[in-house]
Amino acid sequence: MPRPPEIPLVVAGPSGLYCHAGGFHIDPWKPVDRAVVTHAHSDHATAGCSRYLTSAAGEPVLARRVQPDAPIEGLPWGRTTSLNGVTVSLHPAGHLLGSGQVRVEHRGRVEVISGDYKVAADPTCDAFEPVPCHRFVTESTFGLPIYRWPESDGVAADLAAWWSENRALSRTSVVFAYALGKAQRVLSMLLEAEAADEEATIFVHGSVESFVEVYRAAGVRLPPVRRATPDLAKQHRGKALLVAPPSVLGTAWLKRWAPFSTSFASGWMMVRGNRRRRGVDRGFVVSDHADWPGLMRAIEATGAGSIGVTHGSSEAVVRYLREVRSLDADVVPTRWTGDEDGTVTGNDIAMKTHPDQAAEEPGEDPQGGLFN
Ligand SMILES: [Zn+2]
Ligand SMILES: [Zn+2]
Repeated sequence: MPRPPEIPLVVAGPSGLYCHAGGFHIDPWKPVDRAVVTHAHSDHATAGCSRYLTSAAGEPVLARRVQPDAPIEGLPWGRTTSLNGVTVSLHPAGHLLGSGQVRVEHRGRVEVISGDYKVAADPTCDAFEPVPCHRFVTESTFGLPIYRWPESDGVAADLAAWWSENRALSRTSVVFAYALGKAQRVLSMLLEAEAADEEATIFVHGSVESFVEVYRAAGVRLPPVRRATPDLAKQHRGKALLVAPPSVLGTAWLKRWAPFSTSFASGWMMVRGNRRRRGVDRGFVVSDHADWPGLMRAIEATGAGSIGVTHGSSEAVVRYLREVRSLDADVVPTRWTGDEDGTVTGNDIAMKTHPDQAAEEPGEDPQGGLFN
């Protein structure tokens, strides 16, 4: 008798990924009763859920994102808990502070939902850990072979040199970076490049400062920074480096720091033309997602025979895994695919939005628009 088809434990539903056996969602995009959350970016963390389960390291970040008194349970890396008889644990994803992959086990079947992840080293968070499983649901934000990240220390040196060139020309250096994760990573890179000495003055937008506090409280080493205010702009423009979310481009808030040179820290800066289209002077290739070789390495390391692909270039990755790697692969729809009424269509962000129009973290920019 033929074996029955393997039925996934975690499937796409109208509110996001859902585990029927355990009665919980993973990274739901609507408020639900029980949410297991990989990380606190707003395309993964929804406010208003009745109960949250996330990593212990991610708990303060998620609380800052959803609400300070949200009912969040933080689980240390690798510790298991049971949700209606389904064993659940969290394992580092290396994407940002506290970001985890969710491991789900039921009746001998193991599935891992990656959330967003990267395999490159990052001193601001715990390193990605491959978790053996039968089915791996991977993100694919940069799931095309053109994406290969440069070494972080080289980029850090370029960033420091650019700041010093701008200082010599009495221009403020403005680095656009998403307020949670990327901004703190950029700050950590400045520390690494020894650009952040006593003389060097780094200022941050309020949305960045709020998460800098959370990172410092978790023991992450970051350089001294001050919140950018109109008075400080008057005193320090022309010398300062300013880290702010992309949404401030074109605002009066930013004009106070003129004259300035702008840059964007993002994996999208790998593609020629994106810098110009985004209206910035300089691009730094810094991504908190896996590049193509990183995705392939991570997928292989799980040993999974079934791969679900979501959150990016899903179709391209599925085709490659099927045709070149002979793996069983399928597209797992994301929030961007749903119609207005929540019907999941099976399309993906890559089908609707050209990558250079999509923000690296689509939900990260509260004012929307400019980089989406
Ligand atoms: Zn993310
Ligand atoms: Zn994401």
